[in-house]
Amino acid sequence: MAEQQQLPKAKAKVADIHTHMYPPEYVKVLESRNTIPLVRKFPTASDPRLVLLEAEVPLLESAQQDPSLLPGRPLTKHFSSLDQKIHFMDTHSIDISVISLANPWLDFLPSDQAAPSATSINSSFSSMCATHPGRLYFFAALPLTAPPSDLLASITSIASLPYCRGVILGTSGLGSGLDDPALLPIFTALAEANLPIFLHPHYGLPNSVFGPRSAAGEYGHVLPLALGFPMETTIAVARMFLAGVFDAVPKLSMILAHSGGTLPFLAGRIESCIVHDGALVKRMKEGGKRRSLWEVLRSQVYLDAVIYGEVGLKAAVEASGSSDRLMFGTDHPFFPPVGGEKGEEDGEWESVGLNVKAVVKAMGDGVEYEGVMGGMRSGF
Ligand SMILES: [Zn+2]
Repeated sequence: MAEQQQLPKAKAKVADIHTHMYPPEYVKVLESRNTIPLVRKFPTASDPRLVLLEAEVPLLESAQQDPSLLPGRPLTKHFSSLDQKIHFMDTHSIDISVISLANPWLDFLPSDQAAPSATSINSSFSSMCATHPGRLYFFAALPLTAPPSDLLASITSIASLPYCRGVILGTSGLGSGLDDPALLPIFTALAEANLPIFLHPHYGLPNSVFGPRSAAGEYGHVLPLALGFPMETTIAVARMFLAGVFDAVPKLSMILAHSGGTLPFLAGRIESCIVHDGALVKRMKEGGKRRSLWEVLRSQVYLDAVIYGEVGLKAAVEASGSSDRLMFGTDHPFFPPVGGEKGEEDGEWESVGLNVKAVVKAMGDGVEYEGVMGGMRSGF
């Protein structure tokens, strides 16, 4: 894409904090499954299909009879090959990547398999990082379905892994969401270990919200990914805030995927609904002064810059209080080029160009741009 080459090259290091991988042992687990998440081969496609989302289930079922419209996305080498990750970084002038297991992480595993799987996968990520020192770091996966003592113990071992810079977490928590009081010891342990949470959506909104035409594949992934994912993140963090999690664990630090969902846009409305609810205000003031959602966003929350638009990025900077709290990401290997030509995925990706261009438009090409692209974090 010639257009992308005209973008300013960041002088400081560029860091991608939102970039995923499925290590080969994780893909094997998905291949062995009959319910989502799963990997399935179809005679009409050269690559197996990776089917992750509830919204993809109707097509998964209909494709058994009519594979003209396939569910999910092709499972290309971009998902599990470290060489491909490095190639992608080099192609897009990315110096540092903080890689993470993609959704739905280990959320679906039986209790007895969760802790050993987490150990194996986190150790795989650690080994990958060791092969490219200074270029790769990772967010570890947590064994959320493991017994509580094993889950707590996993945080201690994660904290000792040299390239680990935090954990990636979905919104289900232990099954009841992130406002579950049973999660407080986990959040406290993460905060004490100085491990930020990279919060990422997976579960979206119920299929019924998107209607039968979306279920039939008419709108592709647009509604669940563009709207379901951000609303999921928004609701999860709002629930944490209303439950007082940020006050209970003041050292907890979170990085929110997709620029915080719709929080930067809706924080004012959330605040307005709180202050018009006397009982809620009284409860939230227990133990001292109530902090507003704006204050929490500006002290305990970082946002990635994966929103693909100048207006959204400006809202994200305003909400988080500073461009230093906004971090560039690519969401690789999702959103590949769709040209269909063989080898096109080895070139520059339009999704990355769109995102960088939006950062330039929102920040200019000076120090704020450098900060979002990773300059402020080059000391990983
Ligand atoms: Zn992602």
